[in-house]
Amino acid sequence: MTNTPEVEAVSRPRQVEQIVVGKETSDGAGVKLTRVLTGSLQRRLDPYLMLDAFGSDDPDDYIAGFPDHPHRGFETITYMLAGNMRHRDSAGHEGLLGNGGVQWMTAGRGVIHSEIPQQEEGVMEGFQLWLNLPARDKMCAPWYRDFGPADLPRYTTAEGVAVTVIAGVSHGVSGAVTRDATAPLYLDIHLPAGTRFAQALPSGHNAFVYVYRGEADIAGRAVPSQRMAILANDAQSDGVVIEAKGEARVILVAGQPLGEPIAQYGPFVMNTQEEIHQAMADYRDGKLGAIA
Ligand code: FE
Repeated sequence: MTNTPEVEAVSRPRQVEQIVVGKETSDGAGVKLTRVLTGSLQRRLDPYLMLDAFGSDDPDDYIAGFPDHPHRGFETITYMLAGNMRHRDSAGHEGLLGNGGVQWMTAGRGVIHSEIPQQEEGVMEGFQLWLNLPARDKMCAPWYRDFGPADLPRYTTAEGVAVTVIAGVSHGVSGAVTRDATAPLYLDIHLPAGTRFAQALPSGHNAFVYVYRGEADIAGRAVPSQRMAILANDAQSDGVVIEAKGEARVILVAGQPLGEPIAQYGPFVMNTQEEIHQAMADYRDGKLGAIA
């Protein structure tokens, strides 16, 4: 999709509050990844619970994938920059996520799913973001959608900045998914050398930028590659301005905080410990179903 963007004016851009280095870890059956948004930042970046960045051309780092495992109480958004991964879940959904595709899964009251690489060599690179659900929706029916690159709305600014709108609205272009309670904005932004990109953001929404190629400049602060910049929530601010001296690629993620208690045990994110115990019991008793 090609769109003619509206100009988005930002006159009081947000500052960088903190630059975060991710933690090297492994998950699933031994997939190497960098956990950029960790548990200690869940309150600060409410409604987001986790961001994992993965990127490797060594099959040993990804080949084992993520065999059958449960989720309850939130949404997972996987954005694949390069590579192929097959998804299957207990709600009967199956899909192949490929280069430039997005898989949006609302776990709701619970699914068991698997995410298995469909390649034996080459590059596997992308992100998995966890978005919380409001208490009232945590037990909703599971939902799932695959978006190929052609399904994702895109636009290019007059300066040549190319933007993919995964969620929310940017420069008048509506993204693939919208959500009322958390109002997620998720943009992939490719900045040619010497360009600038402005995005309006409500000051109360939490927001961060993760640089995955090159270096970005935000309000005079250099944000290197593989770093997350948490944007300050100054009440006077009206957005963010991202500049690139050389070519840079970043994701910009923002959302409306839920302000609700967060209780997490691994793949279950609820509001209370009691609900976590219930999730574990339901999983143990087979109530989250099974992959057919
Ligand atoms: Fe999963």
